[in-house]
Amino acid sequence: MTRSIIKAAAWTLGADTDDDTPEGVYSVVCSSCGAEPAVTENERLPVEVWALKHTGLNPDHRRFKVKAETFWCVTPAEGNPYGEKDAQDV
Ligand SMILES: [Zn+2]
Repeated sequence: MTRSIIKAAAWTLGADTDDDTPEGVYSVVCSSCGAEPAVTENERLPVEVWALKHTGLNPDHRRFKVKAETFWCVTPAEGNPYGEKDAQDV
């Protein structure tokens, strides 16, 4: 009989709040012609307005592929030895 011991540490998953990381990155592509505006960071309104205007100019182009990217960060939970190591490295 084989017995295994798996060492586990507690980790927490949450939004990446680093100053250099955007809250979200938004993009849209017209499914009819492939047109796409510039990607925006932290604001989805510009891509929504672009889609509405694009359909206004091209009434047959009504479907869009939308991508909203967010960023996660995994941090040591209480009692995780990496938390103590991170505190010492700061
Ligand atoms: Zn189009």
